[in-house]
Amino acid sequence: MQPVFFKWELNTAIMQKEDIPGFETLQALALDMRWSGSHVANELWAQLDPEGWAQTRNPWIILQTMSASRLQEQLALPALRNQLNALRSLREEAVAAPSWYAQQAGAPLLNGVAYFSMEFMLSESLPIYVGGLGNVAGDQLKAASDLGVPVTGIGLLYQQGYFRQVIDGDGNQQAYYPFNDPGQLPLQPLLGANGEWLRIQVPLAQATLWLRTWEVQVGRLKLYLLDSNDLANPPYYRGITSQLYGGDTALRLQQEIALGIGGWRLLEALGQSPAVCHLNEGHAAFAILERAASYMSRYQVPFETALSITRAGNLFTTHTAVAAGFDHFEPPLLAYYLGGYAAEKLQLSIPQLLALGRQRPDDEQERFNMAYLAINGSGAVNGVSRLHGQVSQALFEPLFYRWPPAEIPVGYVTNGIHVPSWESLAASRFWGNKGNAWVSQPQALASHAMQASDAALWQLRNEARSALVDFIRRQTGHASLFNPTVLTIGFARRFVPYKRPDLLLHDPQRLVRLLTNPARPLQLVVAGKAPPSDEQGKALIRHWVQFIRDYKMEAHVVFLQDYDMQLAAQMIGGVDVWLNTPRRPWEACGTSGMKVLVNGGLNLSELDGWWAEAYAPDTGWALGDGYEHGDDAAWDAAEAASLYQVLEQQVVTSFYERNEAQLPTQWTAKMRQSMTTHTFRFSATRAVSEYTTKYYLPAAARYQERTKDNAMVGKAIVQWQASVNQAWPSLEIGDTAVQEQSSAVGPTFIFSVPVHLAGLDTSMVQVTLYAAEADGHPQAQYNLQAGAKIAAASVKECTLYTVTIPATRAASDYTVRITPAHVQVAVPLENRNIRWQH
Ligand SMILES: *Cc1c(COP(=O)(O)O)cnc(C)c1O
Repeated sequence: MQPVFFKWELNTAIMQKEDIPGFETLQALALDMRWSGSHVANELWAQLDPEGWAQTRNPWIILQTMSASRLQEQLALPALRNQLNALRSLREEAVAAPSWYAQQAGAPLLNGVAYFSMEFMLSESLPIYVGGLGNVAGDQLKAASDLGVPVTGIGLLYQQGYFRQVIDGDGNQQAYYPFNDPGQLPLQPLLGANGEWLRIQVPLAQATLWLRTWEVQVGRLKLYLLDSNDLANPPYYRGITSQLYGGDTALRLQQEIALGIGGWRLLEALGQSPAVCHLNEGHAAFAILERAASYMSRYQVPFETALSITRAGNLFTTHTAVAAGFDHFEPPLLAYYLGGYAAEKLQLSIPQLLALGRQRPDDEQERFNMAYLAINGSGAVNGVSRLHGQVSQALFEPLFYRWPPAEIPVGYVTNGIHVPSWESLAASRFWGNKGNAWVSQPQALASHAMQASDAALWQLRNEARSALVDFIRRQTGHASLFNPTVLTIGFARRFVPYKRPDLLLHDPQRLVRLLTNPARPLQLVVAGKAPPSDEQGKALIRHWVQFIRDYKMEAHVVFLQDYDMQLAAQMIGGVDVWLNTPRRPWEACGTSGMKVLVNGGLNLSELDGWWAEAYAPDTGWALGDGYEHGDDAAWDAAEAASLYQVLEQQVVTSFYERNEAQLPTQWTAKMRQSMTTHTFRFSATRAVSEYTTKYYLPAAARYQERTKDNAMVGKAIVQWQASVNQAWPSLEIGDTAVQEQSSAVGPTFIFSVPVHLAGLDTSMVQVTLYAAEADGHPQAQYNLQAGAKIAAASVKECTLYTVTIPATRAASDYTVRITPAHVQVAVPLENRNIRWQH
């Protein structure tokens, strides 16, 4: 790719350097977010320009600001050239390697996945993220590149992004919003086919919103970003993409329109129509509308048909564990901004538009829920951990009236992190991993950890902990702070009440005793931002800072300000234990704890999110009893007590217990087990391969099926939906007859029931015998078979349904129900009718 530049001064500075041997490789590296953050790359930049690197950690700025002569001198140094060449071949090998994806059956059907997200955390030099959601998006994009899955990211470029945190002496958080100069960010203007800078227009209320477009390289893949700072915009639209999660609900709505509608238009402008559209959280759900609009105009079909066909290719991933976490918009706001678009592009009235985001379509008061739009416009829905999948089933119950919770159509893919991006220098030495082994040889890496000696594991820990202590000393300017041999615990996350960042402060005296035990001391590294408008969250930060001051714990506890990707990497690389204390089940997944795995850190966490499925006594420590207790203060106190107890009786003792070779063998045994069994399992490589086989490939196949041959199947589905919905209120289930019989395998029941199908063909419904879980019996379902048409006692024509089942529980446990059935349609996601016997 030959980068293009504006004629602004800094980039003329780049052009002067283009003839320097090696410069082209440096430039490609500086702009590739798959490689930023890798140790080899970091070392290279640090050597090239130590001061610039320390100040900015932004390779692209280094290339712009270094003089041509110094760059030439540096690049002439053999050591540096060797490093550069090594990195270049690593990168070239990764791109050229036969991809995992190409070997998957069905791969040819999937021409692409558009991955929409409000935030992407790829590098601290591209500050367009807040935390967990961006982490998932960024790490999955990098892993998709490693695997060769044809994903394209779609996001927004924020002029300011999320706030930067400064903490004053009293522990008050101050928020700053420095400007991102696009010329200094590792991205390029995106050019359209005609060679001009591509700009996208989106109708917004009475005016047109112009969006500039940018491209970011992520290994083999692209991330496209949109921003509203276009001179053609009316002044009140220029700043739409200033702050991430800033402003009021109108601004949020404008941003989501820019992302969803603007994003899909961007793809179309590039001539791309990916079969799969992955919505990372409901923010991006307007992409559903624009995808349908585009289908309508291309194939001249009404909205209902277009949605029915395109939704098969849409996947909605939900990330929240509370209903309040979904974005909601007041009907007049939505009508104001999207009413014109709905009428013109979708041929929908405002009530029809609003119905797409409501539980009760006709309730004029009900707000428009982005998660509901996402569900109404997707072919599959998933949560982000096993527990969160179940929690989401309960959250979406209102949309699936009378469906048993276990059948509410939300699956799960547990998140994972991009391991090469989060391993410390010490860890990359330990694993000896070159190239793409987390993709090509995860088994070999696991057995490497399995066979590692206690001494090797302990050396990894000591090196990594020392590096963290050095970092803390540099950050704080105290050259003797902390001790590289002391048990080090890390805690960093958003400071919001449900994460209970102050759980450890419950009994400050007891914490002080733990920290200052002369034989077995403890040190704590804490970090995190409170949402700028969250006073409770800010008070939690003050609580820590004041604890440190009031108890003179400066030698044992440090609060590091401005938690971001770079600080996270330092912390998770170095800590011995990563602590996580959310109130179950409000941590949908959590990913920071996964980042310590590759580094030999251990988790001490509430049984929530990913840890609820990962925890085993030989890999770490658990808090909580595996049940929900809301925000009960007494339960918080009990968990605080048990946290102290686990620390005192298990964590501290096993860390300081040494054998004759001075090795803590209980500790290293846990490290070995955790690294062996968890590192790959909670990697983004595993997560993206699971998304691909479980969701992307089937979604692509279903979409192709619906759209091929002039959308024959898609149109038939619309017909089927209409027939089912029309007949449904007239279905009738007669009285069940049960006959007991003995058979070779034991007693059986023969159930028979007359069903009036109101004109539906027997193939269009499923008649089922259903028994809920009760008295030690698991939930049970048996499908009944359609038999003869009979004239029942009542006037209506009926079909007699029968089934023979083992008589293992009372016949009265069973109820007959009817549900819609169609091999191509996801029930109940796409048709929610259900009829139970009275
Ligand atoms: C990994 C990461 C997160 C997400 O971590 P959680 O476990 O979800 O709290 C948030 N912020 C940063 C900077 C991270 O690196």
